[in-house]
Amino acid sequence: MKNEKSAITVAYGDGIGPEIMSATLDILEESGAKLDIEMIEIGEKVYLSGNTAGISTESWDSLRRTKVFLKAPITTPQGGGYKSLNVTVRKTLGLFANVRPCVSYAPFVDTKHPKMDLVIIRENEEDLYAGIEHRQTSQVYQCLKIITRPGCEKIIRYGFEYARQHNRKKVTCFTKDNIMKMTDGLFHKVFDEVAAQYSDIENEHWIVDIGSAKLSDTPDDFDVIILPNLYGDILSDVAAQIAGSIGLAGSANIGENIAMFEAIHGSAPKIAGQNIANPSGLLHGAIMMLVHLNQTEAAERIHNAWLKTIEDGIHTNDVFKEGVSKKEVGTRAFAEAVMNRLGQKPETLKPVKYSAKSVNLPKISKTNGHSHGEKKEMVGVDVFLDWKYGSPNELGNLLEKVNGDGVKLQMITNRGVKVYPNGLPETFCTDHWRCRFIAENDNKIVRHPQIINLLGRVNELGLDFIKIETLCEFDGEKGYSLGQGQ
Ligand code: NAD
Repeated sequence: MKNEKSAITVAYGDGIGPEIMSATLDILEESGAKLDIEMIEIGEKVYLSGNTAGISTESWDSLRRTKVFLKAPITTPQGGGYKSLNVTVRKTLGLFANVRPCVSYAPFVDTKHPKMDLVIIRENEEDLYAGIEHRQTSQVYQCLKIITRPGCEKIIRYGFEYARQHNRKKVTCFTKDNIMKMTDGLFHKVFDEVAAQYSDIENEHWIVDIGSAKLSDTPDDFDVIILPNLYGDILSDVAAQIAGSIGLAGSANIGENIAMFEAIHGSAPKIAGQNIANPSGLLHGAIMMLVHLNQTEAAERIHNAWLKTIEDGIHTNDVFKEGVSKKEVGTRAFAEAVMNRLGQKPETLKPVKYSAKSVNLPKISKTNGHSHGEKKEMVGVDVFLDWKYGSPNELGNLLEKVNGDGVKLQMITNRGVKVYPNGLPETFCTDHWRCRFIAENDNKIVRHPQIINLLGRVNELGLDFIKIETLCEFDGEKGYSLGQGQ
């Protein structure tokens, strides 16, 4: 163990945060971990003081100075336009990989899956968590799902490197690329590309719906699972809960320069202040932090003492079960039981042994947006309208009038389904219309001035356009999906 102290930033958070953080810090101190702690205030109090981001400039400074953050859960106030601080911190600091081990502790913690031992690797910066949402019409709200090639490469490479370093045999990917062929399709494609470079590790892909069913039914079939952000958020809660309790699992948020460690659960406001919350999730986050800091001895001492405590049947309410557990304890007594066992090892559960090796972080250039030299050509434009005044055919007939200047109306969809030309009367329509115009000239190319002129003509008809999406081809490959029924 290194002699000098490692600087870390700590936030007590909201709800059960202060109780579980204080239990965790006491165990860290008693274990001999060498930490120099900077405290910051984030979350509910900061939000309610008028800071909509929930974090002050001084707190960002501390995080950028120490580069290691041990964070208790925080409450995002509902409504009022507050953005989730967790998502803000993860994205602002580039913490692209969220690592969530979910392990059973049978027969000492009740579970239907006694052999479960898997790691969820959740992409942490993209997907619907871009948080770009708009109300576009009276009836329609939209959230953008953003998936990037560098984002996919980073998380998928990290997942394979993690598997290799932790001697895991198989990496599984879940996506919904049978429906979202471009966004989830890219995630799956990059998974296949990267997997081909790790021939020592088995790989597989499941559509997320059946994959989730299998994960809930036979979690022992899985080893490392790499997931886009939303699926990873949902399925890591499922995996932690079926392993024994959401209160058990910790989480590491890894970036190139900074890392954040936390429990996977939230601030559990209903049980706050009652000394009944399980501090184990945050403690597991803290153990991952010690490994990250190369303080593997302290990590091992705490983890083994924790396993011995669980094995001795000393359990908090969330995992306590008559006939399985021996003694129900509160947050503080549980922490004391762990501290009393520092230096001991479990007898039935496998003791842990940590090595100081860290996962090789993928090197992806920040500007690696397009491959160089790729030919991008604009071949049309989707114009989205807020229109409440009639049938698809009426709108179609109106829009045929704006054809010209090398662009022509190709189709109109409503909620993605083609309704003009030749729509079906059964299709339900809202006030949100996507009107696709394509190039009608010899070279099949549309230029920006043509789009500006087209919008001018749409405006002259008194139509309310709410956004456009250009339709591009990349090296001749369509960069947009067809309408359903097109
Ligand atoms: P939650 O995870 O806080 O609670 C879900 C359930 O699990 C509740 O029944 C709770 O009592 C129980 N639980 C959670 N942690 C426990 C523990 N350590 N010991 C015993 N039982 C535990 O989820 P929620 O109720 O949906 O969210 C509450 C708040 O937490 C929301 O404001 C949400 O935004 C926030 N949240 C924060 C984080 C984070 O800070 N990383 C993560 C998720 C949710």
